[in-house]
Amino acid sequence: MQEGWHPTKGEPRILPIYQSTTFKYDTSEQMARLFDLKDSGYFYTRLQNPTNDTVAAKITALEGGVAGMLTSSGQAANFYAVFNVCETGDHFVCASTIYGGTYNLFGITMKKFGIECTFVDADADEETISAAFRPNTKALFGETVTNPGVTVLDIEKFARIAHRHGVPLIVDNTFPTPINCRPFEWGADIVTHSTTKYMDGHATSVGGAIVDSGNFDWDAYGDKFHGLTTPDPSYHGLTYTKAFGKAAFITKATAQLMRDMGSIQSPFDAFLLNLGLETLHLRMQRHCENAQKVAEYLAANPKIAWINYSGLKTDKYHALAEKYMPNGTCGVIAFATKGSREASLRFIDHLKMIAIVTHVADARSCVLHPASHTHRQLSDEQLREAGVAPDLIRLSVGIENVGDIIADIEQALQYIN
Ligand SMILES: *Cc1c(COP(=O)(O)O)cnc(C)c1O
Repeated sequence: MQEGWHPTKGEPRILPIYQSTTFKYDTSEQMARLFDLKDSGYFYTRLQNPTNDTVAAKITALEGGVAGMLTSSGQAANFYAVFNVCETGDHFVCASTIYGGTYNLFGITMKKFGIECTFVDADADEETISAAFRPNTKALFGETVTNPGVTVLDIEKFARIAHRHGVPLIVDNTFPTPINCRPFEWGADIVTHSTTKYMDGHATSVGGAIVDSGNFDWDAYGDKFHGLTTPDPSYHGLTYTKAFGKAAFITKATAQLMRDMGSIQSPFDAFLLNLGLETLHLRMQRHCENAQKVAEYLAANPKIAWINYSGLKTDKYHALAEKYMPNGTCGVIAFATKGSREASLRFIDHLKMIAIVTHVADARSCVLHPASHTHRQLSDEQLREAGVAPDLIRLSVGIENVGDIIADIEQALQYIN
């Protein structure tokens, strides 16, 4: 994937790491124009850096968006994406089956900012989900393929609901990546990523990204999105939609949120992310091929209690996956061994090649028991709401030889009856 970096005569073939906090100008006037947003140019890496921008441009191209930015983590990306349109007294609606970290951020931490989130069952009908909307609702949020339940979002349904209520649909597209799904083509307005996962792909760097489709008409809703459509006193009274058109959302998130909160990705991490992105299309294909074979193996094994993988024809989300991700979803499988939670843990402890790590979606196969690990802070009821069964094992199928992966699973299954 060569988008983003376009070297010309004699320039480096590979994107350089602009490992510089700052950028030099010849006159004080030149610098002043940058701060007034009258000229574009780099001045301080907390706001923008050429390495980061090049990588953001690559992700933007992959998603088919108009503008994008990198953040220091997926958490920062999701926080900025929502906080860019919500402030104290506002409300947003979110699918309940999202990643545990996001669930905590939205349900608990953002509440302390005076922003309320209502979690809804993503599989409910349009009327039921619509009932969660209020006059102060500013966004609808969901994950294309959820972590760790691997359920599939009906993006078109969510887009219809969001747009009927005059709010943007924000979709966390971390698991399928734009290689397997481009949510903008189905009506999503903003896409976020934890680039920590498949995009980096090698478990080297925590990072995030936000991409704007440019499709949501902020000005069409009066002052509902006044942060974008009325003058920003912290930027000389500039109005983002007027000054930046389709790039308004990302410009505001950069000029305001990144400036003030500073969750920038380091240029070195962005460089590593870029290397990952160059092979993303190959890796995703292999992840999906391997996961399909592993899922079929598990589904046919009598020691397995249940399995969620939308590549299986019997899976509840197979039809949605076929529609939105005909080339496969991702390499993550959720399943449980028979004999309850203890058996699941015994199985995990006997895996050899497949490592127990708090990670998912990288080149090496890994495994986690969310109820004991990532989702430990959630109550049983919250676990159920989040689609995390107490016995759920999250298996992230890597790009190794699939025979080796299955052999490891097979030997570990011997330790449960
Ligand atoms: C991991 C993850 C996040 C959080 O990303 P970090 O980079 O760990 O901050 C958000 N959403 C999804 C779907 C994830 O898998």
